[in-house]
Amino acid sequence: MTNSQTAAELKRKTIAGVQDVQLYIDGQFVDAASHQQFDNISPFTNEKINSVASGGAEDIHKAALAAKKAFKGEWGKMKQSDRLKYVNKIADLIDEYTEELAPLESYDTGLPLSLTKKMVSRASHNFRFYAEMVSSRMVGDAYQVDDEFLNYTIHKPVGVAGLITPWNAPFMLETWKIAPALATGNTVILKPAEWSPLTANKLAEIIDQAGLPDGVFNVVHGFGETAGASLVAHKDVELISFTGETTTGSEIMKNGADALKRFSMELGGKSPIIVFDDADLDRALDACTWGIFSFNGERCTANSRLYIHEDVAGQFITALKERVDNIRVGDPLDDTTQVGPLIHRKHYKKVASYLELAKEEGCEVYQGNVPEEYELGNYIPPTILLNADNSMRVVQEEIFGPVLAVMTFRDEEEVIELANDVRYGLAGYVWTKDIQRGHRVAQAVDAGMLWINSQNVRDLRTPFGGSKHSGIGREGGYYAFEFYTEMQVVHVALGDHKIPQFGKK
Ligand code: NAD
Repeated sequence: MTNSQTAAELKRKTIAGVQDVQLYIDGQFVDAASHQQFDNISPFTNEKINSVASGGAEDIHKAALAAKKAFKGEWGKMKQSDRLKYVNKIADLIDEYTEELAPLESYDTGLPLSLTKKMVSRASHNFRFYAEMVSSRMVGDAYQVDDEFLNYTIHKPVGVAGLITPWNAPFMLETWKIAPALATGNTVILKPAEWSPLTANKLAEIIDQAGLPDGVFNVVHGFGETAGASLVAHKDVELISFTGETTTGSEIMKNGADALKRFSMELGGKSPIIVFDDADLDRALDACTWGIFSFNGERCTANSRLYIHEDVAGQFITALKERVDNIRVGDPLDDTTQVGPLIHRKHYKKVASYLELAKEEGCEVYQGNVPEEYELGNYIPPTILLNADNSMRVVQEEIFGPVLAVMTFRDEEEVIELANDVRYGLAGYVWTKDIQRGHRVAQAVDAGMLWINSQNVRDLRTPFGGSKHSGIGREGGYYAFEFYTEMQVVHVALGDHKIPQFGKK
């Protein structure tokens, strides 16, 4: 046993006794009204970690009443500067608990510790960033209309925000929504993914410790079809920010239609990486392997389709295979692990079934290794699908695992057509030293976010979101204000302008 494995085992023992998870409603940790619970399962061993309160319609209703009361009361009336002090306090506390949060997230999700450490620091940054954005950038416009009017706009919070999040980067994605929602003055009900409840629970403890007024922040754990659907349908929940699968997003929009909910939709992806023959192939290889195999392949913006120019395909694929052979698959709590187990047995079976399909569709399936000692976990080795083409389901559908489909192309026109020939449009990556071609191709790819000669490096100020079936709307930066606030325009007459005089004799 290596030293790092010993450290991982120690971490596992330390957090193995995690308590059962309750709901957090109106400033109290409570059981579900039904007293039902579900099991939270380890991706590493498939053993039970703990029990989680299974919220339903009654719990959502209680949370909605509390959140509405807080919005109409102390939180809604609070000065912006005081509100933002709370937001900054949450960031400070997250930093204080990093050593606890990162292993907890790895334990719950199977994501490598080196990644969850970065995500926790991103989470506190989300709160600080939105405190800063609201104070400096949540500004209105003023319009002078001749000498007769001054019109101006203001941003008002919308009310109770329903936030529904996935399991692939739970803590980071939850805070990515909670931070702008709270900083702009809304109250929140969070419905975390049922497969990753632990850090959402810790966040409730942190927000409780930060001393926010009761009801401002609520967490209702539970299943999508019960807790999630009740949140979407509740009449006092004004908006739903959703991140998850495209099919779930479409169902949520149908269910929220009668209540005319405001929606932000961050959905699935099948993003291309296009490597031209003049690219820096070493850097492109680094970016390509990281972009598909980091996050255990469970990354919405993963470059899951590689289009490599036919003149350099041979050498690039040889080098790619070598990387796949050497990626460190291991214990998520080991600092040196690069790929860990998939979140849940059900998801593992879905990804494994795509590998069978790939063979049926005519791909050569080339895989790295999973050490035998990890046979109890949901491990899929890093995988590349050779001889793939756009007509295959494995190229068209989101697999959401460490699986890269590899295709070749001849010229720019062809590769743009191939890149756009999917229903998704979340991200894209272009590698070339010809910068004119780089811009041309990036702008021709139908996706919300493109990178030229880079892996996915995000700046929180830029808009985040997808086109086509990958999403509706943009979050991030001040773009989040469009969703989390109601813009109001006030028209002020400056003098005695003309008013029609109906009925006057
Ligand atoms: P999912 O759609 O299965 O679940 C997401 C959340 O929705 C969970 O909390 C779930 O309980 C809830 N839910 C399910 N059915 C519901 C319903 N009928 N009503 C209300 N809520 C419901 O997604 P997942 O498997 O947790 O996450 C993986 C997916 O998320 C992938 O498709 C990935 O691409 C996508 N994703 C997108 C982004 C992005 O920013 N575009 C980021 C991360 C993940």
